[in-house]
Amino acid sequence: MATLADVKIPESVFRVLARLKERGFEAYLVGGCVRDMVRGATPKDFDIATSARPEEVQRSFPKTIPTGVEHGTVTVLSQGTPVEVTTFRTEGAYLDARRPSTVSFHTNIEEDLSRRDFTINAMAWDPVSSKLVDPFGGEADIGRRLIRCVGAPELRFAEDGLRALRAVRFAAVLGFEIDPATEAAIPPTLPSFRRIALERVREEFTRLLLSDRPVVGLELLQRTGLLGAFLPEIERCVGVAQNPTYGGDVFSHVVATVGASPPVLEVRLCALLHDVAKPRTAPSFEGHDRLGEQLTREILMRLKFPTKVIDATAHLVREHLLDESARWTDAALRRFVARMGEPMLEPFFAYLEADRSTRVDGKERRAKVKALYARIEDLLAQRPPLNAKALALNGTQIMKVLGIGPSPAVGEATRFLLEQVLEDPTLNTEPALTKALRSWAREKGL
Ligand code: ATP
Ligand code: MG
Repeated sequence: MATLADVKIPESVFRVLARLKERGFEAYLVGGCVRDMVRGATPKDFDIATSARPEEVQRSFPKTIPTGVEHGTVTVLSQGTPVEVTTFRTEGAYLDARRPSTVSFHTNIEEDLSRRDFTINAMAWDPVSSKLVDPFGGEADIGRRLIRCVGAPELRFAEDGLRALRAVRFAAVLGFEIDPATEAAIPPTLPSFRRIALERVREEFTRLLLSDRPVVGLELLQRTGLLGAFLPEIERCVGVAQNPTYGGDVFSHVVATVGASPPVLEVRLCALLHDVAKPRTAPSFEGHDRLGEQLTREILMRLKFPTKVIDATAHLVREHLLDESARWTDAALRRFVARMGEPMLEPFFAYLEADRSTRVDGKERRAKVKALYARIEDLLAQRPPLNAKALALNGTQIMKVLGIGPSPAVGEATRFLLEQVLEDPTLNTEPALTKALRSWAREKGL
């Protein structure tokens, strides 16, 4: 079996470690990269911890950036690659359960590791001397696939409420269990979690949602009470009977839909939120698509998602009732694509497939969704005009035909022409549209 000593460390990172050690300081790889190396995965990035103080780090290298000197972090440019180096530190009391009030530097790696959240994240590896520092049994916990707090779980979660969500995120990402004592500390420390800035919550939640096991993550969130603390609208779906074609309750349906969706943020968010208005519209669920769109916007805005993500997800939620079993004419499909926008089609159909796969007649329905998507692709291959820009008459030409200047009638005429070509793309020529526009104008008395 490969051991830690066999893992190849990037040259740029290794040089920084070696240089600090030459100058008489201790220097280790720490945190996520050590965890990943121990479990045989490729680390995303390499963080270094050192006994050198920030100014000593700055003096040790020709090119550095003072990224967060007050917290002990200096970025070293090593062979052009940025490498983060942080002085061993501990943090003072978390007065607001958000950020430590003070930071103090240390010369002892164990002190630094003791402030870290979970045993699997609290190991240090010195590849220059092949030395692993693992005071809390992180390596053994990786072997047991266990997420366990460093120290007393209730104290650690009370101190920084985000750690509870991180425990669930790591469970979903790594496929580990949460140690029972660690999990049991989540419900009593929810007040600390509620004080966490929602940007930080969003960041962890996004990683959970895009992980390989979002179902594990969402179920843990629900069981521990975290879900109710930051997504009460989804918590409210628990126990709301879903319609019989799906069976079960709305919560288990949305969880299964997320689990069957590809890891694309907007698709998984749509899967999670598409039925969010069902508790409020039960038992008929009348209008839950429109209300769902509105709630989706509210929720994602509250969690400070980027506007682009909010708009795209809300759009998917609004359209989520599309009926793949209906007899769609080509014109109706073109109108649907025009409404949806081409870039949203792929995510939307990915969501639809995921949703339908959870139905009692899932297999059949999925086949219908696939067939409909194939038809849309065929239609699009013919490059039909789908928006005002693709019309054979532009705004200026429309004004000329109508003999008018800029006015709301131009917009109205454009919409009329677009409807015509969506219905019949062969009409998209200058003479045909001119003719259609003239008779429209006559009817309107223009
Ligand atoms: P990933 O590979 O997913 O980035 P990671 O372990 O690197 O995982 P980060 O959020 O990048 O996670 O944090 C880096 C390290 O900092 C963690 O491994 C952990 O040791 C420590 N850490 C991060 N957040 C906290 C926290 N809220 N409380 C205590 N320690 C933390
Ligand atoms: Mg990291």
